[in-house]
Amino acid sequence: MSILVFVEHHDGTIAPGSLGVVGAARELATAAGVPLTAVVAGPGASGVAGSVPVDTVYVADGDRFQVAVGRVDALAAAIDASGAQLVLASASVNAADVAGGLAGRLGVGINTDLTGIAFEGGAFVASRPSLDDSVVVRCGWNATGGFQGIALFRAGSFAPVEKAAPGSTETLEVADSGRRSQKFLGLEQAETTGVDITKSDVLIGAGRGLGGPEHFQLVEHLAQTMGGEVATTRAVVDAGWYDYATQVGQTGKTVAPKIYIAVGISGAIQHKIGMQSSGTIIAINKDPHAPIFDFADYGVVGDLFTILPKLDEQLAARKA
Ligand SMILES: Cc1cc2nc3c(=O)[nH]c(=O)nc-3n(C[C@H](O)[C@H](O)[C@H](O)COP(=O)(O)OP(=O)(O)OC[C@H]3O[C@@H](n4cnc5c(N)ncnc54)[C@H](O)[C@@H]3O)c2cc1C
Repeated sequence: MSILVFVEHHDGTIAPGSLGVVGAARELATAAGVPLTAVVAGPGASGVAGSVPVDTVYVADGDRFQVAVGRVDALAAAIDASGAQLVLASASVNAADVAGGLAGRLGVGINTDLTGIAFEGGAFVASRPSLDDSVVVRCGWNATGGFQGIALFRAGSFAPVEKAAPGSTETLEVADSGRRSQKFLGLEQAETTGVDITKSDVLIGAGRGLGGPEHFQLVEHLAQTMGGEVATTRAVVDAGWYDYATQVGQTGKTVAPKIYIAVGISGAIQHKIGMQSSGTIIAINKDPHAPIFDFADYGVVGDLFTILPKLDEQLAARKA
């Protein structure tokens, strides 16, 4: 028996979302008392397999595993080889394709849009925000023994684990299912503008408390001092103060930086859902009853216009 993670990789690097799911899967496997395994598939899989921190990595290298049908073949083979009870993956276009194919092939269920998972009373129980993220539904898999099903997590639900040496690496023997497959024609890099806040270790979250776009240089400067980026709330984006690409939350991005400093943010559930997995959450708010203080690790009650310049000054002095 085992827990199996579908690990994605691009250009010789493991996707941060997959490393996040590996961390959550490690806790799950420990609680269930089973080994943690992973599948890495596609061209270049052998090159990255050595840095996936699980007990056994199953490798399916080659062009055949570039497309969904080949990857489903590889996962089905890995489930047989490892006796997996559950397959976990971080949501992406690719992972959704593969998870759908695998569920159809094996006749099992998928729980999607998950943000957490635990082993309770001998069963796997996942958390899924619903009804505009105003409630969290507990859900499981309707299977008796053996392989239960598939768990697909919202991207960024967990902070990526540090890469480490795996227990062992095994080349998968994958029989060709004979199913008709797509042909891989190539990959074109889309043009991107601005920053990708999901990749930053430090985020300075800026809320309506900043009062207007003219005050954003305060958070931009702090982000620069700390080597991070500025993230925002929907209230800020709706007011046209900052770019939508920086919005965190239900209708924005899900992030899990090492440090998230929430400045002038009330901590509404729709924002919380997008940043609650951050390593350390620090809140600066003048209202001591702001909901953000209910889940922040550290809270500073006070006026951000007084606190931010002092904080910035102290950090700059320490850096020097
Ligand atoms: C369907 C739906 C989807 C949504 N999706 C998202 C989403 O993806 N992301 C998101 O963020 N929101 C989302 N929202 C909106 C969400 O409900 C909140 O309205 C929003 O997060 C509030 O943003 P805020 O914290 O910046 O503003 P506010 O709630 O107005 O909070 C401002 C905070 O700043 C503090 N403050 C004011 N002045 C100062 C000062 N000088 N010093 C220190 N503190 C100060 C105040 O005490 C207050 O707590 C969504 C809502 C709905 C209904």
